[in-house]
Amino acid sequence: MSKIRYERPVIKKLESGMPNKFGTRTEYLPMTHIDGVAVTRLVKEYGSPLFVFSEKTIHSTIKSARKAFETRYPRVQFAWSYKTNYLNAVCSIFHQEGSWAEVVSGFEYDKAISLGVDGRKIIFNGPEKSEEDLTKAITNDSLIHIDHLDELYSIAELAEILKKCPRVAIRVNMDTGIYPMWDRFGFNYENGQAWDAINKIMHSGKMELVGLHCHIGTFILAPSAYGIAASKLAELAISVEQKFKHEIMYIDLGGGFASRNTLKNAYLPGSDTNPTFDDFAESISTALLNSNFKKDKLPLLILETGRALIDEAGYLIGSVISNKRSSTGRRNTILDVGVNILFTAFWYDHKITPAQSFTQYTEDTCVFGPLCMNIDVIRENTELPLLNRGDQVVIHNVGAYNLTQWMQFIALRPNVVLVDKDGKTHVIRMRETLDNMNTMEKIPNHLKKFNL
Ligand SMILES: *Cc1c(COP(=O)(O)O)cnc(C)c1O
Repeated sequence: MSKIRYERPVIKKLESGMPNKFGTRTEYLPMTHIDGVAVTRLVKEYGSPLFVFSEKTIHSTIKSARKAFETRYPRVQFAWSYKTNYLNAVCSIFHQEGSWAEVVSGFEYDKAISLGVDGRKIIFNGPEKSEEDLTKAITNDSLIHIDHLDELYSIAELAEILKKCPRVAIRVNMDTGIYPMWDRFGFNYENGQAWDAINKIMHSGKMELVGLHCHIGTFILAPSAYGIAASKLAELAISVEQKFKHEIMYIDLGGGFASRNTLKNAYLPGSDTNPTFDDFAESISTALLNSNFKKDKLPLLILETGRALIDEAGYLIGSVISNKRSSTGRRNTILDVGVNILFTAFWYDHKITPAQSFTQYTEDTCVFGPLCMNIDVIRENTELPLLNRGDQVVIHNVGAYNLTQWMQFIALRPNVVLVDKDGKTHVIRMRETLDNMNTMEKIPNHLKKFNL
């Protein structure tokens, strides 16, 4: 009998805990403080529900993202995606960290200008840019990312009228193995549309092609898709150089990195399994360094990361309104946090942590919001300790998209507070009032009176 081959033992740390049939247990410890500030104090001063942002986390997240890319590639520039969170204070933190602005509408463009962003450091994306928007962007020398041929022709016309040479890029869509493909934006790589658009720009002589852009999707869990995208854009840039002797200044890979959240139906928590900035940076920088750019001709790498830079810095504090049993006997907990202010509850299993100490007993719980709507569910099922009326919870990783996609629906929207690096709190968006709402409305004279 031959000897069985020796294999060295491997010890691997299991991060996730043992899932039971409801998934992993939500939390083992209460979260009583956010960046050193007591949740009870925050609620007392600013009310519940309450959004809380950690300035410290925003700084540390953008710093770690920059480090991941800058250690692998020589020229990197981040541009803050306004639609992910355009609270002025949040945008300003990113601008203080050196990020440019990435906007997708005239409104966002004006917001960036009003915050004092240099027009040359605004990237203007999106399918809808009015002539007025384009005129502003051309006058300010902003980077205009063209989405379709109609826009390309409008820019050519405006360039003549304004006697300026607009700085443009094209948005390229492509097959990177991520489906459904976001091929409604920009020009397709595989069928030649992107090359057509490039040739139209280069032959027109009316604008300067400074960059190539793509944004392949959002919450992408496959870093390799970015490697494919980077290779395809690099190939286009090199073709431009060969044919027109024109150097492309930058390659912009858009946003879309997954945050630490857990997608619904995922088996393991996203905080354990989602790719890190290092994973994305490795894939992108390898593709660019391996492409045919000469050593001193590497283009600037622009990243428009949104979600992954802000999700973890945002918390939502809520309070328990009531506990009840469903008709089947399941425990239902009703919070004062509805899907009108936590839109992402439709996509994620947000982690919910009690804000006060609790006993070891947990129960599978359905967490509802306060709206009179059946779809107002924050978590379909999660293991939670027994919470009482008036208890607080902290909902994690809510910083991306909730404060741009929230709705004034049934209730008024709450305060948003920033905890700064010294642990001081600042209201960065005031809670809405009935007066705020009423100032936007008008009642025709004949409707001003009624007798009941
Ligand atoms: C939304 C958007 C981003 C940011 O995407 P995230 O998924 O939040 O990282 C970047 N670029 C463009 C063009 C976008 O539309």
